[in-house]
Amino acid sequence: MWRYAPVLPVRTLHAIASLGEGMTPLVSTRRLNQRLGVRQLWIKDEGQNPTGSIKARGFSCAVSMAVELGIRKAAVTGGGNAASTLAAYAAAAGIKAHVVLTGEARQPDFVVCRAAGAQVEKNGGTPDGWFDMSALYAYRVEGSKTIGYEIAEQMDWRLPDAILCPTGSGAGVIGIWKAFEEMEALGWISGLRPKLVAVQAEGCCPVVRAFEVGAERCEPFENPATLAGGIRVPKPAGDFLILRALRESGGTAVAVSDAEMLDAGVELASLEGIFPSPEGAACVAALQKLLANGVLAAGERIVICNTGSGLKYFEAYSTRFPHRAISEEDKLGGLITPR
Ligand SMILES: *Cc1c(COP(=O)(O)O)cnc(C)c1O
Repeated sequence: MWRYAPVLPVRTLHAIASLGEGMTPLVSTRRLNQRLGVRQLWIKDEGQNPTGSIKARGFSCAVSMAVELGIRKAAVTGGGNAASTLAAYAAAAGIKAHVVLTGEARQPDFVVCRAAGAQVEKNGGTPDGWFDMSALYAYRVEGSKTIGYEIAEQMDWRLPDAILCPTGSGAGVIGIWKAFEEMEALGWISGLRPKLVAVQAEGCCPVVRAFEVGAERCEPFENPATLAGGIRVPKPAGDFLILRALRESGGTAVAVSDAEMLDAGVELASLEGIFPSPEGAACVAALQKLLANGVLAAGERIVICNTGSGLKYFEAYSTRFPHRAISEEDKLGGLITPR
């Protein structure tokens, strides 16, 4: 993504902490189109980023800025992806990371953070003297916006009609909208911008509720519960920016259930070979609904952001494929002789 350095805030090139994030494939789907009844559909596969999610963009930019500004200790509070991504980029930059894992974080998140050398705490707050990169941190949004530039470039500057993006803090949606604004100012694009669709979980959908009642801000969502940790954000700090982007774009907000996410994830994997995070899969389920109720039409050119790799969500997907534990006999299968 650092090919877009001229539109990113980092000025000192040697401050850049990069692991090869960005320029992820924009995969044109085939069999899924038939199933959904659309003609042109693409998956922007963010699961191929270092650390397996879209978060790599934001943290590559934020950690680089920290280095440039002389900040040596960065912290984040959150579930798995933000924590493990900060840990990785802090390691790459040679600065310290402190992560506060919230209640829903799983053992793999803990292990990944520790392996990358981060200090890990369960619950609690950011310690004094540590720079907090949680919530809607501006330099993370700057990194996230590169996905908007890439979609435009990969589509040869002919923008799609709609982009579906799973939405938690909104760094993705807000970043994409900012990218379109900037590209317009640069004269790189013109004409209609894509409709932005924020996709959330039924168990935590503050943006959908606010959008539906025409509110400018979200009410805190009580008892948030979804297996899609990346979008479990009960009260996004930048709610008004998300809602503004959705409305200005002529887009909408949709919620789907956890079961619908997992089914859609398996469908995407089996039809296209892309194994998405439940957050990304939520967009496939949401698209199905929007086509059924006529909000989107079969002839529109549609992009889905798969924000993460399904490999990080083994436990969730395992509920779809219950299997017995592999016994010692199965494992050896006659190949290895036990002593
Ligand atoms: C963080 C995250 C999201 C949500 O992105 P925001 O920019 O916070 O709205 C979606 N999917 C995955 C996999 C994530 O890690």
